[in-house]
Amino acid sequence: YWRQPEIKKTKTVCTYCGVGCSFEMWTRDRHILKVQPVVEAPVNGISTCIKGKFAWDFVNSPKRLTTPLIREQGRFREASWDEALSLVARRLLEIRDEHGPDTIGFIGSSKASNEEAYLTQKIARLIIGTNSVDNSSRYCQNPATKGLFRTVGYGGDAGTIADIEQAELVILVGSNLAENHPVIAAKVKAAKKLRGQKLLVLDPRKNEMAERADLFIRPKTSTDMVWASALARYILDNGLADREFLESQVNQVEEYRKSLEPFTLEFAEEVTRIPKAQLIEAAEMIGQAESVCLLWAMGITQHSHGADTSTALSNLLLVSGNYGKPGTGGYPMRGHNNVQGASDFGCLKNMYPGYEKVSDEKTRAKWAQAWGVEPERLSLEVGSDNFQMVQDADTHKIRAMFIIGEETAFADANTTNVHKGFEELEFMVVQDIFVSRTAEFADVILPACPSVEKEGTFTNTERRIQRFYPAMPPLGDSRPDWQILTELAARMGHDWGYAHPSQIMDEVAGIADIFAGVNYERLEGWKSQCWPVRADGTDTPLLYTDGFHTDDGKAVLFPLEWKEPDEAQDSEYDLMLDNGRMLEHFQGTNQTGRSPAIDDLVPNWFVEVSPELATERGIEDGSWVKVTSRRGSVELRAVVTDRVAGTTLFMPIHQGKPGINHLTGEHHDPVVNTPAYKETAVRIELM
Ligand code: SF4
Repeated sequence: YWRQPEIKKTKTVCTYCGVGCSFEMWTRDRHILKVQPVVEAPVNGISTCIKGKFAWDFVNSPKRLTTPLIREQGRFREASWDEALSLVARRLLEIRDEHGPDTIGFIGSSKASNEEAYLTQKIARLIIGTNSVDNSSRYCQNPATKGLFRTVGYGGDAGTIADIEQAELVILVGSNLAENHPVIAAKVKAAKKLRGQKLLVLDPRKNEMAERADLFIRPKTSTDMVWASALARYILDNGLADREFLESQVNQVEEYRKSLEPFTLEFAEEVTRIPKAQLIEAAEMIGQAESVCLLWAMGITQHSHGADTSTALSNLLLVSGNYGKPGTGGYPMRGHNNVQGASDFGCLKNMYPGYEKVSDEKTRAKWAQAWGVEPERLSLEVGSDNFQMVQDADTHKIRAMFIIGEETAFADANTTNVHKGFEELEFMVVQDIFVSRTAEFADVILPACPSVEKEGTFTNTERRIQRFYPAMPPLGDSRPDWQILTELAARMGHDWGYAHPSQIMDEVAGIADIFAGVNYERLEGWKSQCWPVRADGTDTPLLYTDGFHTDDGKAVLFPLEWKEPDEAQDSEYDLMLDNGRMLEHFQGTNQTGRSPAIDDLVPNWFVEVSPELATERGIEDGSWVKVTSRRGSVELRAVVTDRVAGTTLFMPIHQGKPGINHLTGEHHDPVVNTPAYKETAVRIELM
């Protein structure tokens, strides 16, 4: 008699947003029977959102890549692993030897594991000899990280999701928390209802959390640095600052106070269009709260001065004494499940794993010794980031790219130019689970595995490292990314011999200080650790309890000047286009779009138009409209809603051909090279 195979229960970690929910996945062979939340899960307990619960069908999609592909005469043909990896190794080494190491760029995946991020940068730095390695944080939270580095020293969230829950006041700025980080939003909603936690929301769009806020403020887009600085000035001028904290733990207080002179309430009202009374109300809420957590996201960072605005937000927290105590701190909300880990483990142009500077000779010597080479083999030059690599492809400064699990051809700004750049590359490798829009430009496509077919660790938005385990074997001839990268390195003369990802983690822990006490045993099952982790295994859920991560242990109030956004409305492009995610989908929909249960729920692509603008332009709910920027046009249906106001439009980032980044431009934050996706001037026409 035939007997049904046993049900297998596997602990896994969600591969969508940065909340880092974990749960049991129940499978029978390759069939996912259900996702079962459990009380032991450190972040979410018995909660999940729709994506974590239902958006897994993509792992069995018939469109999954199951064998390597090589482009020949303009078409892809199947190839063996031996042929594909030999070709990749040979071409990368040829281009390095002929044109130099810095003509090759690597984009690591913010969805792959920490161990895989480590190997990506190890190949770039050790084998190729370039620091040109990056990940998708360039497109989202790099400005936030910069703001935190400038003021408090670590780029990660200052505390944990439990701190957010226990804060007296939560401030959401440019963050659609209910759709982008739903499980954290659920905790804030519960804290508000059960404990009376106060909620202050500042956002040009009236999202779900704005509807629930004690105070909802709609600033003019791209002016957040001004209101944040004006509130800080009001707090300092009106006896609401934490004087003792400022005197004992913060540097540059007087310089900063002087820099705030222009930021009067009147100036802020004029620039931000926030009524003075609302500015005072917000400042009083912050100044009088015992503990404040401030959460921000792409609504702040994807601007031409997102790093400065992020710095201004952290300054505001310092002035009000909101670091280093339970229920306080700055929390940039990470988007991808492992965008934190991809940065932590070294997919950055200027940092080795653990945020150790590539330009520092002592640091270089340490890494060279650990990797068994002379220091001169490792470059001291800061490399190119994602944005620069794509720009430089067009001029042949970059000649080859290796992109792992990132949808750059859809997600980078001004995709028309991105595609032109890709076409100019001499050689392009894409490692992914599908033939993504980016993979269509590749010379070689290497079939990788999703998380449920491999083992490793992810790090969530609160710096929490968690293990995930294989629920099923790799599909077809696909392989875990860490195995592909290990095999590729061997073909380039570096036989690292990793047989299990735990060996990779052990290697990192032996070199990078902030991971000193991390190992797979301490992360077994539902256990987790928040970095930095000391050698004895003690981790640090709440940062800055005994000083800041700076040379003298003091935080820095960082003076700033107000700068206008790079792209503005004019008579031809008289509207501003905002954009963001929807609850059901993730990024370019490579996964959620292949999960029918999810995809069927979501309407086609649309643009939100305010009731007042719709009346003025004769647009009705459901009208076909054409939206045109200085880069291109898209056609889609209008949704008339008061979620947006005045001349601001909103579009989801997920769907559409050619997609929203056909409209966005290359203007960017010069401090971090993050494109100003949210500063796109457009016009709208009825079709
Ligand atoms: Fe996954 Fe984020 Fe939803 Fe949690 S909140 S289940 S991590 S998408």
